[in-house]
Amino acid sequence: QAKRAERNTWRFYNPQWQDQASERFQLERELKNAVEHGEFQVCYQPVQETRSGRFHGFEALLRWNSRRYGPVPPTRFIRMAEELGLIGPLGQWVLREALQQLKRWRAEGATTLTVAVNISAVQFRQKDFVVSVLAALQAEELPGDALILELTESSLLEDVPASRAVLTQLQAHGIAIALDDFGTGYSSLAYLRDLPVNILKIDRSFIWALDEIGAAIVHSIVSLAHELGLRVVAEGIETPQQLEQVRTLGCHDAQGFLLSRPLLPTEGTAFLRGQRQHGLKDNGEGSCRN
Ligand code: C2E
Ligand code: MG
Ligand code: MG
Ligand code: MG
Repeated sequence: QAKRAERNTWRFYNPQWQDQASERFQLERELKNAVEHGEFQVCYQPVQETRSGRFHGFEALLRWNSRRYGPVPPTRFIRMAEELGLIGPLGQWVLREALQQLKRWRAEGATTLTVAVNISAVQFRQKDFVVSVLAALQAEELPGDALILELTESSLLEDVPASRAVLTQLQAHGIAIALDDFGTGYSSLAYLRDLPVNILKIDRSFIWALDEIGAAIVHSIVSLAHELGLRVVAEGIETPQQLEQVRTLGCHDAQGFLLSRPLLPTEGTAFLRGQRQHGLKDNGEGSCRN
């Protein structure tokens, strides 16, 4: 096999590979110093309860604005941070940042507001994960039910008994667990029997395909969730029609550019004030990219 690869090198060699490898190397180097240089920022996307129209929470989304490369999307750098062993400290930074912000918003009157934080598989598997989450809550004197942790199927299914133990500990403190990008994995749904979760976040690929079949799929996810006593969030709502459809289908919550883009902390504050003062009309037009 190695021989074949060697023999084929001359045919497939692309000088760009050299550039790509060194570009990756440079990006990694930038990433290592990005926290110190203050290049990270957390943005917040509002989550709306479909029935009442009330915004009751935010999802924290990490942004990296590199001095050298400009904005780098999380889909590009999260994996890199995992590979470089940086995701532990970075994830902890996001958690602290999000809880500090939540504390401010609660102090300003949004007393029951929640924040959802994305957790990478590598971070979730770290031995001190539960302790570090509880410490972050304690540092802000926030109750566990202020926090939602978003995990993907694949990070939980790697070791179901171990995942179950960790989730159970978190839930004992009131922390809610959301399954992110629900439906995109290829696993059977039987694992829902073994893993205690509270929320299913239906991936936006389903929301964008709400034809007859797509609606039937969402409908069956919602029925399953109702049976199991779970909350359902529809992600990636971009049109009024989609919002109306997911509301009719019984999704509890909705999130997407139609309702608001991810917002900078100051914009989040204004958004919350707008909610209180003018009812539910204000649309978030965030300056936070994406
Ligand atoms: P996710 O957790 O599923 O987050 C939702 C993503 O969809 C966000 O992208 C958000 O900006 C985007 N989005 C929201 N509404 C809409 C919409 O209506 N249309 C479209 N096209 N997109 C919408 P973002 O911020 O680029 O994040 C991508 C992924 O990166 C996240 O997916 C999450 O898996 C990961 N991520 C983001 N922040 C963090 C973090 O702090 N830690 C970890 N471990 N992962 C993170
Ligand atoms: Mg998420
Ligand atoms: Mg998602
Ligand atoms: Mg996603």
